[in-house]
Amino acid sequence: MRRLPFKRFRELRPSDLNCDLHCHTNQTDGQASIADVLAQAVTVGLDRIAFTEHVRRETDWFPRFAADIRRLRQDYPQLEVLVGCEAKALNTRGGFDATDALLAECDIVLGSVHRFPDGKGSYLDFDDLSPAAFAQIEFELAIGLLEAAPIDVLAHPGGMYARRHGQFPPHLMQKLMEKSLERGIAMEISSSYLPDLPAFLVLCAEINPYVSIGSDMHRLADLGRCRDLMRAQGVGEW
Ligand SMILES: [Zn+2]
Ligand SMILES: [Zn+2]
Repeated sequence: MRRLPFKRFRELRPSDLNCDLHCHTNQTDGQASIADVLAQAVTVGLDRIAFTEHVRRETDWFPRFAADIRRLRQDYPQLEVLVGCEAKALNTRGGFDATDALLAECDIVLGSVHRFPDGKGSYLDFDDLSPAAFAQIEFELAIGLLEAAPIDVLAHPGGMYARRHGQFPPHLMQKLMEKSLERGIAMEISSSYLPDLPAFLVLCAEINPYVSIGSDMHRLADLGRCRDLMRAQGVGEW
């Protein structure tokens, strides 16, 4: 069984921040190649990165992609390089858009809410939803991932809401955090999707969930961004 040694928030030390566990390449919607990302990781002084490419159940290129990572990382013995993926919730019961065979290739699996299934094989239009309804649907899909999907990390919690309406309702974020702790799944601290990072960190300090650190890097310049923002907040210096 794959289990990364995620730390709980209040156990973090400065050296634990020196990673980026959410990166995309030009295999999907990122801009850079695997080799570019590895070189950039060294340039910005990271100790650990994870390639967490977007996948779906019908994805057929993953074994080759994973093999490419395993081959190329041999040139960087100083860097811990994880093979991972990011897949989305398919329903509120933990339905997950990745096959067992694909997950077996991974060191880290990110579960995300990206779209809102309508229960009839299609998706709801975000524009048709009130902010309250939007938050509730995103919450229920995320709870489903935490309760029943084979994930290590809940990626960008509340992120779809945040992109459209601002900060995800704190009482719902708190429930996600509590559920993640109960299930031993890491909450992602995301520099890309948290409009109010300091408020999120206050909640982390209170509930003390397992945490993962990810920039959701699509452009090379963003690699390590989450680390930098957390350092600026003094995380780990206690
Ligand atoms: Zn995502
Ligand atoms: Zn992503």
